[in-house]
Amino acid sequence: MKSMAARDDNVAGWNWHPPLPIEGAPIFVFPLQPLRAARWFFSVGFLGSFLLPYVGSSLVAWVFLHPDLARCVTPEIGWMVEIFARNLGIMVLVAGGLHVYFHTYRRQGSAHRFDARELARDDPRFVGRSQVIDNIFWSCASGVTLWTASEILFMWAYASGHLPILAWDDSPVWFGLLFVVVPFWQSVHFYLIHRLLHWKPVYRSIHALHHRNVAIGPWSGISMHPIEHVLYFSSVVLHLVVPSHPLHVIFHLQFLVLGAVQSHCGYQDILVRGRAVFALGDFFHQLHHRYFTCNYGTDYVQLDRWFGSFHDGTSEATRRLTRHGRGRSG
Ligand SMILES: [Zn+2]
Ligand SMILES: [Zn+2]
Repeated sequence: MKSMAARDDNVAGWNWHPPLPIEGAPIFVFPLQPLRAARWFFSVGFLGSFLLPYVGSSLVAWVFLHPDLARCVTPEIGWMVEIFARNLGIMVLVAGGLHVYFHTYRRQGSAHRFDARELARDDPRFVGRSQVIDNIFWSCASGVTLWTASEILFMWAYASGHLPILAWDDSPVWFGLLFVVVPFWQSVHFYLIHRLLHWKPVYRSIHALHHRNVAIGPWSGISMHPIEHVLYFSSVVLHLVVPSHPLHVIFHLQFLVLGAVQSHCGYQDILVRGRAVFALGDFFHQLHHRYFTCNYGTDYVQLDRWFGSFHDGTSEATRRLTRHGRGRSG
């Protein structure tokens, strides 16, 4: 399905793309645009598809699927395995479910799919010569393990009193607001570590593993080198500094993991009878997978725009970034 062809000739390389140029969240823009910002915040694309689903899933995980915090005082294998098993289950459910829906049964065909290229098969660069098997391996063996390790450290610190626990009654406003702060903090943190990951020696030995995925699927999102996982999950250091509850840490980690799974789907939306009902994809990051040296952050805080590495999807942006020796095609 081709669309928007009339708006920009850059469509040549894409099966589908959103209206160009893409703009990013109108939050940290000057002069401030409060009405646009409010509309964006309460949209299906942000509140309905990224913020509320992860507040909900982390709440379910904390209330029903989490070992009693009192047990976490002593580092015993039992409660740690419980957290690992739960996280692995969530991963398989979300990434596996989206993969089966979009790539095994092709329930949506190529509607709202960015890149028509299929996930690689019989390619010696991937574990098992299969991009999907390779991506599952890195996502589960390294991704889920280090996601769980980060969570275990925090649960132990909260249980043993090394970190104070913010209660809802202490400050309901801050308790709620922190869920909103996380995506914007993560946007800045990701930009910074991602710039480091594109420094040549680091790129070659670490980040290239993620960038073998040019056509991307749900399992590609968190398919990273273990050192990249450590850097990526270090976003949760925020909770060492600001008063938080264990629920915030669980939410933050789910946002990091499942947000990446969701945004690497390769599709912009889930469509029901041709109508977009749930936002998935992230053309902003899809452009990074094609041109590599642009769009290092996320479009919540527009650091790429401020520092000259923003690709808005247009062919003019491709020319500009290539002229500066920044862009290369994947
Ligand atoms: Zn990526
Ligand atoms: Zn990158």
